[in-house]
Amino acid sequence: MIDTAAFQGKTAKFYTLGCKLNFSETSTFARTLYNMGVREAKKSESADICLINTCSVTEVADHKCRQIIHRMVRQNPGAFVIVTGCYAQLESETIAKIEGVDLVLGSNEKADLIQYLSDAWNKTDVDSIGDNPTEEGKGQYHSVKTKDIKSFQASCSRGNRTRYFLKVQDGCNYFCTYCTIPYARGFSRNPSIASLVQQAEEAAKEGGKEIVLTGVNIGDFGETTGERFLDLVKALDKVEGIERFRISSLEPDLIDDDLIEYCAQSRAFMPHFHIPLQSGSDEVLKLMHRRYDTKLFAHKINLIKEKMPDAFIGVDVMVGSRGERPEYFEDCYNFLASLPVTQLHVFPYSERPGTSALSIPYVVDNREKKHRAHKLLKLSDEKTHAFYAAHIGQEADVLFEKAARGKAMHGFTDNYIRVELSPSQAKEEYDNQIIRVRLGGFNYDQSSLKAELL
Ligand code: SF4
Repeated sequence: MIDTAAFQGKTAKFYTLGCKLNFSETSTFARTLYNMGVREAKKSESADICLINTCSVTEVADHKCRQIIHRMVRQNPGAFVIVTGCYAQLESETIAKIEGVDLVLGSNEKADLIQYLSDAWNKTDVDSIGDNPTEEGKGQYHSVKTKDIKSFQASCSRGNRTRYFLKVQDGCNYFCTYCTIPYARGFSRNPSIASLVQQAEEAAKEGGKEIVLTGVNIGDFGETTGERFLDLVKALDKVEGIERFRISSLEPDLIDDDLIEYCAQSRAFMPHFHIPLQSGSDEVLKLMHRRYDTKLFAHKINLIKEKMPDAFIGVDVMVGSRGERPEYFEDCYNFLASLPVTQLHVFPYSERPGTSALSIPYVVDNREKKHRAHKLLKLSDEKTHAFYAAHIGQEADVLFEKAARGKAMHGFTDNYIRVELSPSQAKEEYDNQIIRVRLGGFNYDQSSLKAELL
C-alpha cells in the first residue's frame, strides 16, 4: 500500500549524470513525484527528497557521482536521499554506506520508485524526513543480478518545449569488451510499438514538434515483443503533429539497408544519423568484440549519403583503448578522414573494473590518449565546418527554440545544422515553429549559420 498522504507538500531536488536516457528517466521520476504532490525545490531551499540518477560510463563518471551524492547530502541536511542509475546498479552496497544516503535502487527497482519510497517511509517517522541525517552505513539498497533486470521504465520526457525524448528500448546483449552498460542496465528489452505510438501522440497533444528516440542499443528493438525497429519507425512516422523524429544512436550492424531507404522517403524521420564506430581499425574492432568491420561501416555511410546526400552523420570514436597500437590509430584516422561523415564524438578509453578488455596487454598512456583525441577532434572540426559551409546560401526549414527576449534564437535544420536568428529578427511567435530561412554565413563563434528570413 502506498501512503499517498506522506508525499503531499514535500519538496524534491534532482541531479542527473550521463546520457540522454538518464535525463529522460529523471524527468519521468520528477513527473511521477509531482503527480503524488511533491514539488521541485527552489535552488536556494533545502529539499525533503534528493534523487541522484547516476552514470558509470568511466572511472571519472563514478567519481563525479560520489562527489554529487556528498554535495547533495551536505546541501540538503536531513533530506531523504535516493540514488539510482547505472552506478547504483553496479555499486549499490558501497553507495548505501555513504553517510546521508537512505535508499539505493538498482536498474530493475527504479521503475517502482514510489513503492520503495513509501515502504522506506513506513519504516521511518515520515514527519521526521528533513530532520534526521542518515548515519553512515544505514542506507537501504535494492538491486538484483544483471540477468534478473527485467523491468522497463517507460519514459517520454520533455527536453524543452520543442524536443521530447522517447525511450524505446533499454539494456544491451552485446557485451563489447570495454563496456559495463549491459551489467548496469541488463539485457535488451522494449515496450510495444502501440504503447510508444501512444506516448508520441501525447507529446504531440502537448505541443511537441520533435521526438528523439533514445535507448541503449535502439536497433535491437523487438527482443521483447517480437516486433521490428523498422515497423516502429513506420508507425511513428504517421503520428500527426510530430514534425521531426531523430534516432539518438544506432549500432552499425543494426542499421538495415531497408531502414536507410525508408528514412530517405519518410515524412518525419530526419536525414540525421548518429552511429558508434568506436574504432576505424579492424584489428581494434575485433579486440572490442564489435559486430562489424570497417567495410560494413563504410557501406552504411555511403548508402546513407547516396540516398540522402545532405544527411548529417555523427560518429562516436574511442581513442587509446587497450590494444590500439600507433599503426591501428593511424588506420582509424585515415578511415575517418576518407568517409563523408560530419562530426566525431571522441571519447578517451577508460578502464572499467570487471570488463574483459582488462586482459588485453597493450596499454596506451594518458598523454598519448590526449594526443589522439586532439587529432581526431581537429579532423571533426574540419569536417563539420565544411558541411556547414556547403549549405551557405541554401534555403532550409528551421525548428526554432524559445529564447529570452532580446537574445538570439537558435534552432536546427532537418539535417541538424545549428542556425542562429539575430535578436533584432527574433520573435516570440517563432518559438517551437518551423520557419523557412536562407542560411547565411557563420556566426561569431562559428557554432551556427546565420538565418536570413525569407
Ligand atoms: S553495444 Fe557495446 S558499447 Fe553499446 S551498450 Fe552494448 S555493450 Fe556497450
